[in-house]
Amino acid sequence: MEILQHMQEYGHEQLVVCSEPSIGLKAFIAIHDTTLGPSCGGLRIWPHSTEQEAVWDVLRLSRAMTYKSAVAGLPLGGGKGLIIADSRKEKTEAMLRAFGQFIDSLGGRYITTEDVGMSPRDLEFIAEETNYVVGLPESMGGSGDTSVMTGLGVYLGIKAAAKATWSSDDLTDRTIAIQGFGNVGFNLATHLIEEGAKLIVTDLHEDALNRAREIGAEVVKSEDIYDAECDIFSPCALGSVLNTNTIPRLKCKVVAGGANNQLENESDGELLHKRGILYAPDYVINAGGIINAGSEIGGVYYPTRARELTERIYETTEDVIKTSRVEGIPTSTAANRLAERRIKAVQALKKIRPRDF
Ligand code: NAD
Repeated sequence: MEILQHMQEYGHEQLVVCSEPSIGLKAFIAIHDTTLGPSCGGLRIWPHSTEQEAVWDVLRLSRAMTYKSAVAGLPLGGGKGLIIADSRKEKTEAMLRAFGQFIDSLGGRYITTEDVGMSPRDLEFIAEETNYVVGLPESMGGSGDTSVMTGLGVYLGIKAAAKATWSSDDLTDRTIAIQGFGNVGFNLATHLIEEGAKLIVTDLHEDALNRAREIGAEVVKSEDIYDAECDIFSPCALGSVLNTNTIPRLKCKVVAGGANNQLENESDGELLHKRGILYAPDYVINAGGIINAGSEIGGVYYPTRARELTERIYETTEDVIKTSRVEGIPTSTAANRLAERRIKAVQALKKIRPRDF
């Protein structure tokens, strides 16, 4: 991949390479677009096998954050952090603090929060080095675990997609296959179980699978999830899981989950559309976390406001599906258009009164 060529093609503003050999820190910060406000997005800790793969991941994730905040109506741009490490074995306090210092050096152009491989404690270490952190624990005056609101938003997005598919958003006895039973998968599952849905779950780790068994889910091997007999497939692990290999295997009518960047390529949105599978675009329905965490910016966090904004995900998902149906385009394209329209409108306003970060 030619990095600058990729950045210019997709409109990225900046890629920061962070290195501190004494503590084994190898990390990137990608800032995609700050038209709507400072870039914001979680820090992911993941053991990518090549730097190339890590750069591609962080650039793609930062772009998704721009679109996510735009569609959710937030005054935030898109950014993402990535530390190359195995969070279960290699993550250290020093690594997190060093990363916090790199964030601080950007003077507010990037605000971080939790993502895959992170715990609330990890975010506290970062917050000791920089103020540009959201999603802090409630005991520190923050909005708490982002995945609670993400789980709620994904659940509401699933309901909106169900309504468009079966003319009812009731999920009683619907079978939902969840890929990845971490923070988001679990929080989503609690809503689904409460409504009487049946769950099929997979994960790479036995502790996560045990948690799924405890709430009555059927557990399958990770590769078998694509063939599961289900109404809804809900990717809640990592990205690129919807591709030319997996889409033909799906037995569901709806794909709606919390993972970021589920489509391997834009053309996979078209493929789902052609197969008659309704795809609730990932960044439309998984925005609850950034809505919640972003509500901290400005100093005072109002939980009821964050919940109210998250509940709008149902309506936004319906709008995207409606546009897709009226214009005969994939839902992924309809969502992109919605985001791009908002960014363009705000760009025009900037000429009148430039925003300070
Ligand atoms: P997490 O680390 O708590 O959970 C991810 C889980 O997925 C882990 O249990 C992991 O073992 C499992 N997993 C990874 N690869 C897998 C595979 N191939 N098959 C089955 N399981 C696999 O992370 P999370 O916070 O739950 O985030 C999950 C996804 O949701 C990520 O894509 C993340 O970017 C996205 N997301 C999270 C939030 C949030 O608030 N945490 C918000 C928006 C989007």
